[in-house]
Amino acid sequence: FPAQADVLIIGAGAAGLMCAAVAGKRGRSVLVLDHANKVGKKILMSGGGRCNFTNLYTAPDNFYSENPHFCKSALARYTQWDFIALVEKHGIPYHEKTLGQLFCDNKSRDIVDLLLAECREAKAQIRTRCEIQRIEPLEGEGEGEGEGERKGFEVHTSLGKVVCESLVIACGGLSIPTMGATGFGYDVARQFGHHIIPTRAALVPFTLNKRALKRQADLPGTSLAVTASCGEGSFHEQMLFTHKGLSGPAVLQISSHWREGESVVFDLAPGMDLCNWLSEQKAQKPESHLHTALAELWSRKLVQFFLQLNGLESKPLKQYHESALREVAEKLQTWTLTPEGTEGYRTAEVTLGGVDTNEISSRSMESQKQPGLYFIGEVLDVTGWLGGFNFQWAWASAHAAGAEV
Ligand code: FAD
Repeated sequence: FPAQADVLIIGAGAAGLMCAAVAGKRGRSVLVLDHANKVGKKILMSGGGRCNFTNLYTAPDNFYSENPHFCKSALARYTQWDFIALVEKHGIPYHEKTLGQLFCDNKSRDIVDLLLAECREAKAQIRTRCEIQRIEPLEGEGEGEGEGERKGFEVHTSLGKVVCESLVIACGGLSIPTMGATGFGYDVARQFGHHIIPTRAALVPFTLNKRALKRQADLPGTSLAVTASCGEGSFHEQMLFTHKGLSGPAVLQISSHWREGESVVFDLAPGMDLCNWLSEQKAQKPESHLHTALAELWSRKLVQFFLQLNGLESKPLKQYHESALREVAEKLQTWTLTPEGTEGYRTAEVTLGGVDTNEISSRSMESQKQPGLYFIGEVLDVTGWLGGFNFQWAWASAHAAGAEV
């Protein structure tokens, strides 16, 4: 076990491995430690096993942070095109699924293998099953003020003690504790006087109360395109009914905007003027019932559910005045629902909040409180939308730190 390294990285996930490769290629001796039994567990389970490794349209607007300008510099210096070039260099086949989301054709394993190959080339050492016990900052050893100064850290672990010049915290967020997620990164940040923006589970399914679940008992597994809106967020994607509530990309996305007690509004016919469409149906097929007309848009099961939910009876269209059709359309285009909660960190893809970026250099990811200490990836208060943005942040922030450590 190496007793010394120029750079010690805690966390062998997306950001930690990327940072190790970049720093190692600059000639720095790098050691990466992880308490899990293998590296990159979240990468392996990401994107349904195919890792949505970046997004063609990545831009700072795709990220949440108390300090929205923070992510700009790193994202501009290591872009989606840089990561795509790396993927191509390793001959990994990939495709765009939808909305610029790039997935591996084969398995997420390809991305872990890419990172491990880069780390090997950079001569970075990696140790798993290593518990970090204590971190002690070393005092400067200069003769005069600043002169010959050498600060660093002494890190006590279950495998032994390591002295390093630069310490990189790449421990990720709190989501999926069974995959090895811990709050360790936040503890280290607090130890050095950093402020933590309160964390919460995000990109997470909603749970509904018993009454609502009973109403949708026939629907789990059914999905439809919606626009989900809450606060300033609005996403046009698929929604999925589940046994616990609602999921699917539209719901995961809007969960990042939702706070306890708030309502979410769903437009069940996004992009349509439903009132106008119903009027046309009435003109063309006046004898047709409302439910038959709506069955052109949704499955019969869904139509029945939406009608019951809104207390709407199905009559021949000719019996509806324009105002009644407007009311039907309005109910279906502004279905308002208050989730009971979310499934929490157990299934959340990411953690909102984290180490306050106001105390971190946006150029290098170095702490402004403790020289030589760096924070990268999800542990920072930078959280991406669903769609490959979270990995792009991991790559970009890791690259920024890797060039400086
Ligand atoms: P992680 O990749 O989580 O790595 C952190 C590492 O630190 C882990 O290896 C962990 O074991 C280690 N660690 C934690 N605590 C300690 C400790 N105390 N001591 C030592 N080591 C420790 N994002 C996308 O962009 N696209 C996707 O397709 C996608 N799919 C996802 C699917 C799921 C189910 C989940 C949960 C997340 C998904 N994400 C996706 C989000 C993405 O995985 C994370 O944002 C990304 O992995 C964050 O990278 P990171 O390196 O900061 O943290």
